[in-house]
Amino acid sequence: MAAKRKATPPRETAKKPVAKPAPRQTKDEAAAQRKPERSGAKLVLRDGVAVSPGVAVGKAYCIRDIFLGDETRPLDDVAALHELYRYDVAREKTALDLKSVYKKVLDQLGEQQASIFLAHEAILHDPAFTAKVRSWIVDSKQSAQAALQRLLAEYTDLFAYTTDEFLKERLADIRDVIIRLAGHLAETAEKAAADEGAAGEGEPNILVAGELVPSHVFMLGDRDITGIVTETGGRTSHAAILARSRGIPAVSGVEGILPRVQNGDVIVVDGREGHVLVNPDYETLTAYRKLQRECVNLRDRLAENRDQPAVSADGQKVQLLANISGVADAKAGAAMGASGVGLYRTEYLFLTHPDVPDEEEQYQNYVEAIAAAPNRSITIRTLDIGGDKKIAYIGDNREANPFMGWRSIRISFEHPQFFLAQIRAVLRAAAPDGKAKDVRLMFPMVTTVEEMRKIRAFVHRAERQLTERKIPYGRVPIGLMLEVPAAAVSIDMLLEEADFVSIGSNDLVQYLMAADRDNPKVSSLCEPLSPAVLQVLTHVIRTCHAACKPVTLCGEIAAVPQACVLLFGMGLRSFSMSPAFVPVVKELLKHLTAERAEAILKIVLRMRTTAQIIRFMDEQLADIAPKLTILGS
Ligand code: PEP
Ligand code: MG
Repeated sequence: MAAKRKATPPRETAKKPVAKPAPRQTKDEAAAQRKPERSGAKLVLRDGVAVSPGVAVGKAYCIRDIFLGDETRPLDDVAALHELYRYDVAREKTALDLKSVYKKVLDQLGEQQASIFLAHEAILHDPAFTAKVRSWIVDSKQSAQAALQRLLAEYTDLFAYTTDEFLKERLADIRDVIIRLAGHLAETAEKAAADEGAAGEGEPNILVAGELVPSHVFMLGDRDITGIVTETGGRTSHAAILARSRGIPAVSGVEGILPRVQNGDVIVVDGREGHVLVNPDYETLTAYRKLQRECVNLRDRLAENRDQPAVSADGQKVQLLANISGVADAKAGAAMGASGVGLYRTEYLFLTHPDVPDEEEQYQNYVEAIAAAPNRSITIRTLDIGGDKKIAYIGDNREANPFMGWRSIRISFEHPQFFLAQIRAVLRAAAPDGKAKDVRLMFPMVTTVEEMRKIRAFVHRAERQLTERKIPYGRVPIGLMLEVPAAAVSIDMLLEEADFVSIGSNDLVQYLMAADRDNPKVSSLCEPLSPAVLQVLTHVIRTCHAACKPVTLCGEIAAVPQACVLLFGMGLRSFSMSPAFVPVVKELLKHLTAERAEAILKIVLRMRTTAQIIRFMDEQLADIAPKLTILGS
């Protein structure tokens, strides 16, 4: 939950790490009591939003802006020459990328969308751009990365005070080109490090970043990242979801930490309480290491229940599904004992692809995901781009209000050929002679009945196209993600058009509470355990049951034990979550009966404030499944 507990001073924490959650406070209460940072001291306690539970201790690995690590040391002559070579290779690869992405976007989306990559090519080949980077490598003996960093800083300063939208866009384009170049430089650096047996290898790293973007996650690949700290982002932001899906403790919204941390500093990430400690004293460190071991031991013990069925103490069967962003997550879902995939976020396929995945590539990917999914059962969601997930060739990056604007299904409708290609790829992967058993197709951000009808028409069109082309495909159930308050209010009408519903509580909560899910400043409002949210969830779940339509919840709260108790009380029997949490929820269910959950829900629905509900639910969880409280919420 976003609401935080009292910031425990590190010295006290050192004596007795808080294994059992203290009564939680709202963010405002916590802020009023927060201790000031001890300036100049080695020990720094910073508070953020606890976004992925558990405790991690390790060495800081900083990502400053878009670059990996820090490269400030001057090079010698030989190294500078090698760096020049690396830069030229990165330039060539970037040029190839841009050509290929231009062609694919032209084919799939048209001239207007593709033209952006011509502009990027022009920037890449701009003689002044190249001359500057090369001269800083050769004359100033800077690494290629440092030179690019310097160039970006120079352009950013140059455009800092402009109000001219055109110039602002040019800066965004320059940044995009530099990101591509930096990505290729990092690839060769990672390879060199791997060849030499990478410095720091084997040591756990705590990733400290301003923001975590998908390309970083892609590049980080095999690094031993055991904790994540970011300056921005909330509980349901990209970084948080990625951390949770890998079971990595994480704290977001730790403002101003990056300038205060050096690579190699010792960092403690307390993802239960939302605390981050930098270079703590020996006593504190020892206490946190102990707590880390306890969390890991509990996780390991719980993972042993992977082959047991998910049933409540009174024998009610529950479906525990995995949220995935790719094939590796589907395997993790199977390893953790999920019974299927409840949400495949296909946008990661697009976000991490060097250009645009075409129908064939998408088809191959869905076939692989189906093969890896537990019981070959999978719900595939169409592209959910926009909001905090941006790709250069689609959507509008200049929107003032991206979460409320042109995102998800709204974008897909505007690009019919592109949309149809994705639908065809899913239908083909669902062909009965293939590996699929239970494939469902789900559409994000559905707001109106008209949209649902339009979706059905698109699916029929895709089916007709496949029939005409004599390509085998399967018919699949069509569902909607319930994420917009308007859809919650008119759920009974939408159900007439949908085969199933999956509640996307991450978005539903932010829209209901008018509080950006990524903005730590409003995280106390973006709170699922609030009276309004619980009323709406109860209404939606009961309406789906009355209409005999399957309903799942696939937002992050599906894995929060306190929320699970209430959802179970509402009658929900299908939960989809990051694979790492499947054993945790299985354990909770063993101690929970429907009668008890319903009684708790009845009390909670009469409560007037979020703080009251959170405190009550913490107490209830401590009573129902005390050992789970060590993980936090
Ligand atoms: C949600 O909104 O709850 C959801 C699962 O979708 P996403 O987090 O990808 O927006
Ligand atoms: Mg969503």
